[in-house]
Amino acid sequence: MTLEKYQRLSDDELYKKISRLKEERDAVFLVHNYQVLPVQRLADFIGDSLALAQAAVKVQVGTIVFCGVHFMAESAKLLNPGKQVLLPDRGAGCPMADMVTPEALRQARKRYNNPIVVTYVNSSAAVKAESDICCTSSNAVEIINSLPSDREILFVPDKNLGSYVAKMTGRKLILWPGYCYVHNRFTVQDIINAREEHPGATVIVHPECPPEVIERADMAASTSGMVQALKEHAEISEWVIGTEDGLVEQLSAANPQKGIYPLAVNAVCRNMKMITLAKAAWALENQKYEITVPDQVATKARLALERMLEVSGRK
Ligand code: SF4
Repeated sequence: MTLEKYQRLSDDELYKKISRLKEERDAVFLVHNYQVLPVQRLADFIGDSLALAQAAVKVQVGTIVFCGVHFMAESAKLLNPGKQVLLPDRGAGCPMADMVTPEALRQARKRYNNPIVVTYVNSSAAVKAESDICCTSSNAVEIINSLPSDREILFVPDKNLGSYVAKMTGRKLILWPGYCYVHNRFTVQDIINAREEHPGATVIVHPECPPEVIERADMAASTSGMVQALKEHAEISEWVIGTEDGLVEQLSAANPQKGIYPLAVNAVCRNMKMITLAKAAWALENQKYEITVPDQVATKARLALERMLEVSGRK
């Protein structure tokens, strides 16, 4: 069936088709927190980059349909190379990941004093292959704390996450000038407005936000950390959430008794929203788009990811 035909089906019809195709193709769905809610409902496993990387390692069936962006599907392929990994839209990339190239990273290594290169998983496999160890927003503090204190550290590519981690660990990091266009747009004025509108609410923001925004918030946490914070703090009835809309929708749906408010309107990652139910069904039927990583890149990139999982656990 063509993608156009799938796009004419209702959500109910698509869920039925996907359920049948999943059995036929021996597939599971790994879904990122920033996907649209109808796609989140497909998830056999939903989470942030770290949780999804840990889940990918454990997949037993033949095919992983990855509803997220390209670097995440690549990480799943690196960590479980025997599986077929499908990304339903090959255009779903990450602009932050594109802010560093392997060549630029090689040049930077030469400019500094043999630094340890710590690369956020929001990066291509080719960049991971030039790195010593990876991190996610959930485990970045733990990863930096695990490194020898007498070496310089080059943190790639998110300057905001790097600056947050430097503050939390007391380590001086050389920061790559990359950023996430969704989180970098949050401002101190957004926090001031949110506190005026919801004076009793707790403000929690993602560490990809600018330092001055994190400074004014009550807490900073990765998306999985935010899910956890709402569970742990049952006594807090109102939250202002400073991350992408997909997580705000997920938290609202899971906590209907609480007031859940976005820190700003239109905090939308267009790249994450490229995956739809129709594309997921079509991709599964037609085995599109299959993720491949050249062997020489995969071996080195896998090492950087494996080192991260050794430090932060395969849970
Ligand atoms: S939310 Fe930001 S970091 Fe995540 S995929 Fe979108 S642009 Fe990349």
